[in-house]
Amino acid sequence: MVYAVKELFYSLQGEGAQAGRAAVFCRFSGCNLWSGREEDRVGAVCSFCDTDFVGVDGPGGGRYASAAELVRAMVDLCPERAMADLCPERAESRGLAVCTGGEPLLQLDAPLVDALHRSGFQVAVETNGTRPLPPGLDWVCVSPKAGAGLAVTSGDELKVVFPQDGIDLEALSGLAFRHHFLQPMAGRDEDAHTAAAVRYCLDHPRWRLSLQQHRKLGIP
Ligand code: SF4
Repeated sequence: MVYAVKELFYSLQGEGAQAGRAAVFCRFSGCNLWSGREEDRVGAVCSFCDTDFVGVDGPGGGRYASAAELVRAMVDLCPERAMADLCPERAESRGLAVCTGGEPLLQLDAPLVDALHRSGFQVAVETNGTRPLPPGLDWVCVSPKAGAGLAVTSGDELKVVFPQDGIDLEALSGLAFRHHFLQPMAGRDEDAHTAAAVRYCLDHPRWRLSLQQHRKLGIP
């Protein structure tokens, strides 16, 4: 399997239940809900995306010929201190690898999950939930998109970009996730979206507010 990767970086998780935790991020190229080209945005299933996942030209990006090669590049991003924590015998001290995109489940497979584990990583995925999961993941975050069917209906966190016409929060609140987050949609009306999300969380305490801390901090 050749893995097409837009970029690799070491940063703090900015969103959801693991916010503030250091992690190596692997942003895979490509998505099944939008081509990533502006001319295709109107009419795409997912039309509010603010992520560049096209091509393999970002920092650390490229076409990796094997899982071992990709994991080596991810380990190389960990600073020395973090490497000292990559200890397979002590699960709580492992580093975190976040597989994101684009849609990571177009490429993330069992051999890559295994290779990440062998290097001492816990493996998290951030997916739109339309594709089946490979076995062995340590953390599953699903961000459902209106108009796209869900293949993944349980996991660790459900993170809904809010508001989205056609998303049924009542139905989603019944799915078997440990955490339910609303994340205000970025862009021109972000303040209004944030106020609406705050109101919704106050009225429906099962839902928690997720803010994109990395954007506010100016880190990747
Ligand atoms: S599903 Fe995610 S990566 Fe794909 S277009 Fe939507 S927001 Fe972007």
